[in-house]
Amino acid sequence: QVLSSATNPNPFAPFVARAFSSDSTPIRATLFPGDGIGPEIADSVKQVFKAADVPIEWEEHYVGDQIDPRTQSFLTWESLESVRRNGVGLKGPMATPIGKGHRSLNLTLRKELNLYANVRPCYSLPGYKTRYDDVNLITIRENTEGEYSGLEHQVVRGVVESLKIITRQASLRVAEYAFHYAKTHGRERVSAIHKANIMQKTDGLFLKCCREVAEKYPEIVYEEVVIDNCCMMLVKNPALFDVLVMPNLYGDIISDLCAGLIGGLGLTPSCNIGEGGIALAEAVHGSAPDIAGKNLANPTALLLSSVTMLRHLEFHGKADQIQNAILSTIAEGKYRTADLGGSSSTTDFTKAICDHL
Ligand code: NAD
Repeated sequence: QVLSSATNPNPFAPFVARAFSSDSTPIRATLFPGDGIGPEIADSVKQVFKAADVPIEWEEHYVGDQIDPRTQSFLTWESLESVRRNGVGLKGPMATPIGKGHRSLNLTLRKELNLYANVRPCYSLPGYKTRYDDVNLITIRENTEGEYSGLEHQVVRGVVESLKIITRQASLRVAEYAFHYAKTHGRERVSAIHKANIMQKTDGLFLKCCREVAEKYPEIVYEEVVIDNCCMMLVKNPALFDVLVMPNLYGDIISDLCAGLIGGLGLTPSCNIGEGGIALAEAVHGSAPDIAGKNLANPTALLLSSVTMLRHLEFHGKADQIQNAILSTIAEGKYRTADLGGSSSTTDFTKAICDHL
């Protein structure tokens, strides 16, 4: 039933090695509880870590109420410094106003901390039945450029322009990360997802970089799949894929599609990897304003994200313990949140996980 890092090629195994070694030395980690359901699910992580006696001291940071000129957003400079100093952190969802307002908080974090790869493991949970029982995918999303470069303007009245930026440097960096990940995690195949038939220059450069890196990894099968065909193939048979690497916008969309294959956004974790070994873990989902403050949110995605953070710190004992408690609680089926067809509150589900530790 359960996954153990010692026996299984674990999708939550460390994304990059970092020089922390013991399960008992306290480590400082930055925590952004975030917006909407963020504080509720962040509380859940804090409770589970406390019950499991994880030697982490949280340094909590909140989004400010005015724009910090040094970050050009509501994120304070001090909160960014905290992640830089600690090297690890956990982030709740942050809401972004649609079509207007300040620079996206998520974009600010990714750009300022140079979080270049967003790694999203997605696998069928033991004991939780969906249409598929063999999903085991890793989506690796380029996280700093593409359509999310934040360069939009009005050309003339009635005409706006949004720039898609693809650079050789960022494409090589994320491709290298994807192949290295595949090699070190016992994966066999890397699929580059693109639309280079239409976006010939931008996605064309992305593919060129992936091919260059693929040549350095002859043991890994490399293929290229057009994004629309990829969506169809994923829905028909997700087992066709292993590690997928892609530009920013495609990664955002495909990873939500993958979440749908295994039971929804309440279940899928991610970790943002930055230059110099920074790791900022976060759930794939957003702030879920429709259920915020109602004690209904599923904290699994953020909890599994916190597990990726522990593995990054090489706290494998605690990571195994928490991961197994989450998976056993879901598999047992007595306590599940509404998104998984149950009637448990966030707090009851969290308590059940603590009881399984
Ligand atoms: P969303 O992910 O917040 O919600 C989509 C649907 O999934 C909703 O029905 C919601 O109730 C459900 N859902 C999401 N997480 C859940 C959980 N943990 N448990 C149970 N159900 C859950 O997407 P949205 O509504 O498009 O976005 C809301 C806000 O979040 C927007 O401001 C958006 O910009 C922001 N957002 C932030 C991030 C991030 O911080 N990384 C990611 C995506 C969206």
